[in-house]
Amino acid sequence: MPAAFHTFLCRTDNIGVLIHDEATGSTASVDVPEAEAVERALREKNWRLTHIIVTHRHLDHIEGIPAVKAKTGARVIAPKKASAEVPQADELVAGGDKVKIGELAASVLDTPGHCADHISYWFAQDAALFAGDTIFTLGCGRVSEAAPSVLWSSLQRIAGLPNETRIWSGHEYTLSNARFAISVDGANEALKARYAVIEKLRAQNKLTVPTTLGEEKATNPFLRAGDPKVQKAVGMAGADASAVFAELRERKNRF
Ligand SMILES: [Zn+2]
Repeated sequence: MPAAFHTFLCRTDNIGVLIHDEATGSTASVDVPEAEAVERALREKNWRLTHIIVTHRHLDHIEGIPAVKAKTGARVIAPKKASAEVPQADELVAGGDKVKIGELAASVLDTPGHCADHISYWFAQDAALFAGDTIFTLGCGRVSEAAPSVLWSSLQRIAGLPNETRIWSGHEYTLSNARFAISVDGANEALKARYAVIEKLRAQNKLTVPTTLGEEKATNPFLRAGDPKVQKAVGMAGADASAVFAELRERKNRF
């Protein structure tokens, strides 16, 4: 049975997601950015929380865990490298591990770069990836604790998944990401068309998550660092894609 997903806003720009297994009634929250928002979403869907799957240890992703775990008894699955920051974890995982939410199965992918402990959850059967702050719709996470090439490698790992993969990221930053994307890839027709759609969605306060990997490959400059047009736009024609990615990331920081 396919999984059901519910996506909602938390805090100011964090994305909350519930993953629901109809067969068993199991429900997982991807991170808990804000306890009240997650509890409200559970009430709206009439789902009972059984799992919390954590992508990384930043406070805006884990702050609601203690309150929600205390209320629901949900099993907390967190990155091995975030054990100190998520003491509520019942299970610590790393790349290659499997996670079960009822009958739904996810593989854990190591996706460091935004921070060292960052992992993503890949539900192959549902073509769904929960990527936290690794990749955003038309953007990517900021780099900390490592060289930009570490995040580039993680993005390459994600780019290797099937194009139809739906990607849920941790924030709604898409309008700002789209403006930056246009500044470095303005001749890209697919990007221009998408920018118009995104402006409309955001004007109606609609979320632009999930995106698909295929759309991101066509329009997200951070996945297109190997594209000659993007390379030329930043004055790095023929350069190593990883170096172009680092330059793009640096320009976005200043954008
Ligand atoms: Zn983060």
